[in-house]
Amino acid sequence: MRARFILGVLARDSFHFMLQLITILNRCHHFPGFVYQQARFSSNHKSIEIAMRPRKGSPAICSRCHQPAPGYDELAERRFEFIPFWGFLVFLLYSMRRVDCRRCQAVFVEEVPWGDGKRTLTRAYMLFLARWARKLSWKETAEAFRTSWEKVFDAVEHVVTFGLEHRVLGQIDAIGVDEIQYAKGHKYLTLVYQIDIGVMRLLWVGRERTIESFRGFFTVIGDELASKIVFVCSDMWEPYLKVIREKCSEALHILDRFHIVAKMNKALDEVRAGESRRIASEGGVPVLKKSRWLLLKREENLKTEQRFRLRDLLRYNLKTVRAYLLKEAFQQLWDYNSPAWAGKFLDDWCRQVMRSRIEPMKKIARSLRQHRELILNYFRAQKLLSSGVVEGLNNKAKVTMRKSYGFRTFRCLELALYHSLGKLPEPESTHDFF
Ligand SMILES: [Zn+2]
Repeated sequence: MRARFILGVLARDSFHFMLQLITILNRCHHFPGFVYQQARFSSNHKSIEIAMRPRKGSPAICSRCHQPAPGYDELAERRFEFIPFWGFLVFLLYSMRRVDCRRCQAVFVEEVPWGDGKRTLTRAYMLFLARWARKLSWKETAEAFRTSWEKVFDAVEHVVTFGLEHRVLGQIDAIGVDEIQYAKGHKYLTLVYQIDIGVMRLLWVGRERTIESFRGFFTVIGDELASKIVFVCSDMWEPYLKVIREKCSEALHILDRFHIVAKMNKALDEVRAGESRRIASEGGVPVLKKSRWLLLKREENLKTEQRFRLRDLLRYNLKTVRAYLLKEAFQQLWDYNSPAWAGKFLDDWCRQVMRSRIEPMKKIARSLRQHRELILNYFRAQKLLSSGVVEGLNNKAKVTMRKSYGFRTFRCLELALYHSLGKLPEPESTHDFF
């Protein structure tokens, strides 16, 4: 008797709870042409299922022409996954109607405002997952919300596709082009950023780092926008230089400070590694052991103890030490304001390096001489573009790629990069489900 009473109360409370749930849904996820009919627990009590139906007298909308059309028939019930709630998965159940559209002269499935034709997730849930996928890795997002990696992919793809279709390019004053290595082997992406003072965002992701991949960007933005670009930042990669000459001949082309410094560090590292090997093979004192970061970091970023070790190291007569001093001396270039004085400094520095008999450094000097005018453009631009911008965006791109372990394809990487760096507009939502 008592047991039956308790069960009765539970059933009644559960019934009230489900009614409340519909009230809440009507508050946050309401669509005029449809009604929430009934909410119930699934048979295993792990999920909540909410049945929906069209509002009486409300016609179905043709998914092709987006206009009301007479009904044709009804398909089997479909489950649309909604945002999980207190540990329960939530599904909206709905039998989609088909319309016999006179305008399109064919039978089409209706359009529903909470989902799209292909995916099993509701739009609200896709936006919700995609927002989390910007903070967590896609794998972590899938685990946190008990869904699959593929569904997180779908969600991000939906949001990014919408964003790319709806973004406003407007005037673009400055762009930076950068390459980034991904996967094993030599696979590269070409990234183009807008680096205007007020708008810094990723504009484009291209496969490879070829002339064709960078040209793809200009195809997307069109000749008119391209012709108005005032500054272009790049590294010394020849295919990029060629496309810039071809597409932005009016713009001031600047070799990016950050890329020059990176190249210099690479050369120094090559000298160090070579010399370290030589010392080891000759059985000498391994003075260069663990010196890599001492030499590559700026001195002001070293800890006191590291600074002492660096001072120690600099007393040796080594190629590495000479290369290090050349690299450090080069930093002075960035302090100049006048292109003429900067040019004079650059020439002196290159002359000194060419006498150094340190091949990796000589290679850099030759390359700097060859691109002298583009380097001096940095000063002609009055340092308006801080090199920190491209470097910062490049670092963010690397973080995005690192978080994306499990992404093997270009498509995943492309989506992830647009998603985190593109500042794309998001689809509208009936409610902020945060
Ligand atoms: Zn139609």
